[in-house]
Amino acid sequence: MDASADIVVAGAGHNSLIAACYLAKAGYRCLVLDARHIPGGGAATEDLLLPGIGIDTCSTGHTLIRSNPVLVRDELGLVADYGLRYIDPDPVAHVAFPDGEHFTMWLDPERTMAEIARFSVADAAAYRRLLDEYDQVKSIFTESQFTPIGFGPALDQRLAEHPGGRIWQRRRALSAWDIIRNEFTSRHVRAFMLWMAFQTNQAVDVPGSGLLAYSLIYGRQQRSWSILSGGSGRLTDALVGYLEQRGGTVLCGKPVTALLLDQDRCVGVRTADGEEYRAGTAVMSTIHIKHLRDMAPRDSWPAEFHYGVDTYDVGIPGFGSYLATTEPPAFATADGPVTAVSAGTVGWPEDVVKLGTDLRAGRFVTEVPWLLVATPTLVDPGRASGGQHTVKVLSQQVYELPAGMGDWDTVKEQHADRQLEYLRRFTPGFTEDKILARMVKSPADYEKLNPHMVHGAFHGGDRGLAFSGAARPVPGWASHRMPIKGLYQTGGSTHPGGSITGGPGRNAAIVLLHDLGHDPAEVMSAPAATLARPAAAAG
Ligand SMILES: Cc1cc2nc3c(=O)[nH]c(=O)nc-3n(C[C@H](O)[C@H](O)[C@H](O)COP(=O)(O)OP(=O)(O)OC[C@H]3O[C@@H](n4cnc5c(N)ncnc54)[C@H](O)[C@@H]3O)c2cc1C
Repeated sequence: MDASADIVVAGAGHNSLIAACYLAKAGYRCLVLDARHIPGGGAATEDLLLPGIGIDTCSTGHTLIRSNPVLVRDELGLVADYGLRYIDPDPVAHVAFPDGEHFTMWLDPERTMAEIARFSVADAAAYRRLLDEYDQVKSIFTESQFTPIGFGPALDQRLAEHPGGRIWQRRRALSAWDIIRNEFTSRHVRAFMLWMAFQTNQAVDVPGSGLLAYSLIYGRQQRSWSILSGGSGRLTDALVGYLEQRGGTVLCGKPVTALLLDQDRCVGVRTADGEEYRAGTAVMSTIHIKHLRDMAPRDSWPAEFHYGVDTYDVGIPGFGSYLATTEPPAFATADGPVTAVSAGTVGWPEDVVKLGTDLRAGRFVTEVPWLLVATPTLVDPGRASGGQHTVKVLSQQVYELPAGMGDWDTVKEQHADRQLEYLRRFTPGFTEDKILARMVKSPADYEKLNPHMVHGAFHGGDRGLAFSGAARPVPGWASHRMPIKGLYQTGGSTHPGGSITGGPGRNAAIVLLHDLGHDPAEVMSAPAATLARPAAAAG
């Protein structure tokens, strides 16, 4: 293996793979290194429990990336040439409330509104208004998401030029809870809207989370909780396929431990086995900034960068139970059993607000105020060869256990039992005998699985005002260029943030392509596999 390349990419999550693919499209030879035994980071499907049952280790829902030009315009041919196929499940979601009431959201907005009207006619009208109003500004938010910071007007400026912009400037600064309690009156509808707004593990009372009350529900109403036929890992397969066909290489089992510097320039990386990989042009990283900073001498970074990294909020950790089952969890409702790919339970609004407050204060959550229950096999049976189901039960939890509580390995099984017991209040047929195998992951397990998920927080970090837009990850370094020359950063800790959006990856590619003398729009829209490139080092 040649230990050099034009561009060395540290981490093979979907964002760095997307960045590498665009760079390969422009003719650069990319070498991607990942700590895990497989590429993809949070976009992976593995036989975690039983042979022949493909489980999404992390992400399942891909709604967010579907507004990315990488798919909208199929700029890498992932759909046309690599066979990506999305499924939009209907119902979109089903949720049970503490009093035994249920709510089902449908792809047909009229049907969703009819469901809301069961609780409040005024709230059904408010829901229509919410969708209509977001529709008018959606393109502004989408363009801002898929434009690197500094490469177009700032979001505030874009909003200021819109007739309703002042309202949106306020909404953006509010919390999701502020928005929801202002728009809706029914306790049930508010609780459902909060369940949706909490999907990216962002506390709903944090200023700056307001947009989530619009964007998540709007996206779901358009495309449901889109899932990839065959599993989340198919995205990774397609990206790796694209890259390898254009001279790129992906090497796994290669944790990067140090940046190689030549004076003030990053010229490659060193991996845990002592190997060095040299980059002739640039280094691109998805290593979490909390770790990246330690991979070069302290004085390589300016004081304000250290401050920005020290104060960067990694976000709320996640907790997950993975089940292989003979049946899906079916919710018992007055109209009969309901199953949904994206289902769950939610407490009352005050419980969901308190959940965020408790977690940010480091209080272990024993109750079950919020659960996401994902059963992709309902619409994608090919994931399990014998007609079984894969069920992933997700929630949020603290990273550090309170003193005296015991160790995570014991606590996590008890906590998963408690959650399943609660779920069974609404899905009585989903009994223990339906479970063929189970695995529980604590926040500590997620961190061990993927060092980019610091403290087991897997949506890239808090999305409040202090860590958004030009402040993400650190004010002054939001344009993917790091303080060390030749070093570029992508991944969920960069604009526009975590989840499967591909935004940080495509944006980082735009910046690097620009610095290398390309017209990024030309590269991205070009059908050609390889374009002529100027010979320059970046940064
Ligand atoms: C259980 C779970 C469920 C989720 N569900 C969803 C969902 O349904 N929808 C959604 O949109 N998002 C979901 N997410 C979040 C989503 O997976 C992440 O936000 C997303 O994967 C981030 O992508 P990324 O490219 O920024 O980085 P990652 O996917 O985190 O990839 C980073 C890569 O870098 C590698 N790496 C890190 N440090 C090093 C190092 N030092 N050396 C070498 N390699 C390194 C890691 O091994 C990893 O492969 C979920 C996550 C989890 C864990």
